Amino acid sequence: MPKLKMPANLPDPIINENAKIVLKRRYQKKDAEGIVYETTKELFWRVASAIAEEEGKYKNSSCKPASLARDFYDLMTSYRFLPNSPTLMNAGTDIGQLAACFVLPVEDDIEGIFDAVKHAAMIHKSGGGTGFSFSRLRAKDSVVGSTGGVASGPLSFLKIFNCATEQIKQGGTRRGANMGILRVDHPDIMEFIKAKERDGDLNNFNLSIALTETFMKAVEKKEDYDLVAPNSGETVGTLNAREVFNILVQKAWESGDPGIVFLDRINRDNPTPKLGEIESTNPCGEQPLLPYEACNLGSINLGKCYAKGRNGKDSEVDWDELKRIVHLSVRFLDNVIDASQYPLEQITRMVETNRKIGLGVMGWADLLYQLKIPYNSQTAVDLAERVMKFVHDESRSASKILAAERGAFPAYPESTFGEANLGPYRNATTTTIAPTGTLSIIGGCSSGVEPLFALSFVRNVMDNDKLVETNPFFEQAVKDVDAYSGKLMEEIAKVGSIRKMDHLPEELRKIFVTSMDIEPIWHLKMQAAFQKFTDNAVSKTVNLPASATKEDIWDIYWKAYEYGCKGVTVYRDGSKTSQVLCTGDGD
Ligand code: UDP
Repeated sequence: MPKLKMPANLPDPIINENAKIVLKRRYQKKDAEGIVYETTKELFWRVASAIAEEEGKYKNSSCKPASLARDFYDLMTSYRFLPNSPTLMNAGTDIGQLAACFVLPVEDDIEGIFDAVKHAAMIHKSGGGTGFSFSRLRAKDSVVGSTGGVASGPLSFLKIFNCATEQIKQGGTRRGANMGILRVDHPDIMEFIKAKERDGDLNNFNLSIALTETFMKAVEKKEDYDLVAPNSGETVGTLNAREVFNILVQKAWESGDPGIVFLDRINRDNPTPKLGEIESTNPCGEQPLLPYEACNLGSINLGKCYAKGRNGKDSEVDWDELKRIVHLSVRFLDNVIDASQYPLEQITRMVETNRKIGLGVMGWADLLYQLKIPYNSQTAVDLAERVMKFVHDESRSASKILAAERGAFPAYPESTFGEANLGPYRNATTTTIAPTGTLSIIGGCSSGVEPLFALSFVRNVMDNDKLVETNPFFEQAVKDVDAYSGKLMEEIAKVGSIRKMDHLPEELRKIFVTSMDIEPIWHLKMQAAFQKFTDNAVSKTVNLPASATKEDIWDIYWKAYEYGCKGVTVYRDGSKTSQVLCTGDGD
């Protein structure tokens, strides 16, 4: 439990109505009867003080724990920055596991497989999500040496992981999330691509196919490519790359699964190749990690980094404020590594060796609304690059400052930074763009770098609670043009978008676009712009209307490759029976 005393003059946080429900349900501490006994002020102080206390052990630190705790408290309660959910839930408690993202190896033997099931269960219980590559498992029907029988293949084991996840609720609040990855040259790839074709199958998994450069070149040239047995390294067959790609697209069109990740590209950016190869990402794809590695994330709310120009008229990004937030957030996230207790010794070792952190952004659509820049414009894409380059450069400079105070990450000498004499840095990676599914509710902002799903909508959260949300910047803008009426808002909540509302001013309709109004290409251009200056990856879903065709998805998957993305996920409206966000009445 934190030792720093709560200052008497600490202000109460201002919490929006939706956040109150979420915080109470998931984050505030409860007694054995399930009664919430922690106030939101105590919650944020618990986190701020637990993370700031870590500062005390660094003798050369430029910050004092007590004043740092106050800075962290203000940073979080002004919703300028929030750490990932496990940090908010567990910092300063007995659980103490603070990271959202883990990758576990799955070895090709029964013991290894069931070790991974057990380790995943431990991680889920503490609020983390797990990613696995099943690529090391021998193919279905190949020989099992010790018994003379035949192997049942990756997919049969995946079902066991899925079932185990189903039974473990994370701290009594949510189910674990998983990523399952298979290399495109694994002999069972076709079965894997079709694994989620029935709605509800493998419901605790996102699936992604790891595409290689060799495969993508073969798609381009319509050539065959080799399938390789992972246990022997032998070529055991060939498939036509274009046909596999087409089926992949077909399945993604049907249900959104599987997504794709570009494995060679991910490994090209692996800062510590001598420690191993990256085989998988975390559940939502934004965090590639080595086996047994974990990473804690945090997100800056860009909507809070808007400033009126010096002339009082033009609006711009408040770069000074953004810089201050980045530096404080990097210190916060680096301290989280020390404050966190990991469920396995191997994980503790890996985390302490690389000290990866993932600072990202949310509220991007909110910032664009304030700047009156349409999301689907080159101006927005250019600004995305500028903003993320700034965040990234400043995060690196903050990591350098920390290295001077506390030392570089231990693997630094053998890392790509060390070899190029770039550092020393405190962290092997500093930037990741997370989906911010719950953080954005707490912060009352648009999620990650996504456009708004709808200007006004009903959100289904946990156990069928329904939250009605209207974007505050939109509400204000409508009031400003004097077109506000309750009836209008009702109308908008039904359809989500104002694109077709001719009676509203054109400028308003151009600026206040939603994900469904935006041509898929802009989703991708935006993802690529942020990826350009992100160490890890960018969580982004290309949302498509129900009418989108297979050709549209083909094009998106291909362009994601051309644009330098590390992966991509699509979602066609209505292609799953239950979706997290929906317009209309939420049913
Ligand atoms: N995550 C998880 N279970 C969930 C939601 C998220 O394990 O129900 C993990 C997963 O690794 C995901 C990461 O947390 O990729 C970040 O997700 P998000 O930003 O949506 O989480 P938040 O911090 O907003 O809860």
